[in-house]
Amino acid sequence: MSTTTPDLPELARAIKAWGRELGFADVRIADVDLAHAEAGLQAWLDAGYHGEMDYMASHGMKRARPGELVPGTVRAIVARMDYLPMGREEGWREQERTRQSDPGAAVVSVYARGRDYHKVLRNRLQALAEKVKAAVGELGYRVFTDSAPVMELPLAEKAGLGWRGKHTLLLSRDAGSTFFIGEILVDLPLPVDPPTGAHCGACSACIVACPTQAILGPGRLDARRCISYLTIELKGSIPEELRPLIGNRIYGCDDCQLACPWNKFAQRASVPDFDERNGLGEAGMIALFAWDEEEFNRRMEGSPIRRIGHERWLRNLAVGLGNAAGEEGADVAAIVAALRKRAAHPSSLVREHVGWALARHGASLDALEAQG
Ligand code: SF4
Ligand code: SF4
Repeated sequence: MSTTTPDLPELARAIKAWGRELGFADVRIADVDLAHAEAGLQAWLDAGYHGEMDYMASHGMKRARPGELVPGTVRAIVARMDYLPMGREEGWREQERTRQSDPGAAVVSVYARGRDYHKVLRNRLQALAEKVKAAVGELGYRVFTDSAPVMELPLAEKAGLGWRGKHTLLLSRDAGSTFFIGEILVDLPLPVDPPTGAHCGACSACIVACPTQAILGPGRLDARRCISYLTIELKGSIPEELRPLIGNRIYGCDDCQLACPWNKFAQRASVPDFDERNGLGEAGMIALFAWDEEEFNRRMEGSPIRRIGHERWLRNLAVGLGNAAGEEGADVAAIVAALRKRAAHPSSLVREHVGWALARHGASLDALEAQG
């Protein structure tokens, strides 16, 4: 607890200004009573929608009780950082859709093409917390970003950073949904900001756009069907019935965000960290599939993609390459040659997905071989 008695409204204003200096687009403050979110969390877990994400369940209702997670916590300072690459053009959503329809393109979710946001946000939140601490003398705090133990989005919603869209992501009238959220839990009774209302109205574009029907209804996401879960969180085999629906999305999925009308207000990042690296905005699947483990680790150093490892990387690419079967413009001979090079990969996970992909190309392959 603070050793001095600071002017809390003045301090809250200063925190927001410091946040902006550190690259955050918006910083707001909420109390940490998330009792209203507990029933929804329990129902989601009971339905098994979290799939293999056991860490979602393992913290139990502590996730909805930040004061139990970090004793003494009375407020959350919640910060938004926009992630569209600094130089991204106005027509970025159309460009993304064009790439989805190119059977050779490797589509990586926009947020994951640059530096790992965990590190970027954490460092800046830490710097912000240190400034607060310097101002008040002593501060109990803990920094989180995309961390399982905390229900970040209900906190952000409570702080007035936006509302939960029907796709469950946070939406801001100023910035759509292309941003990251991080928070500092503090033991300082700062004045809180009011929540904002929901502005989805009658729209259901995200529900319609979802390739796997993972959004079961407004705010109800079955993560087990979500391509982000299947390509990032899921460690084992991707269910066969879902593979054709994944298309060429090899890491994450942006479809519900691309469909959302609020993303015409999506904002560019204020920092260069999320600019595309390794050509991930225009890469082809065959080129990425050729990376050996050493090259994957080297190129993905500092990227969020590194955490799925080379094996899952190849798994995802094999699915994408398999899905090019029958697509106009697909270079079947090159795809099949690339897949065959991986057919004896030491990982059974990779071999199984490569086998599936080759089987998908079976008919075209037979025709090619008959010609040749
Ligand atoms: S990320 Fe993709 S798969 Fe997941 S809910 Fe959104 S549109 Fe559906
Ligand atoms: S697409 Fe429509 S329903 Fe879905 S989050 Fe955006 S505004 Fe809400």
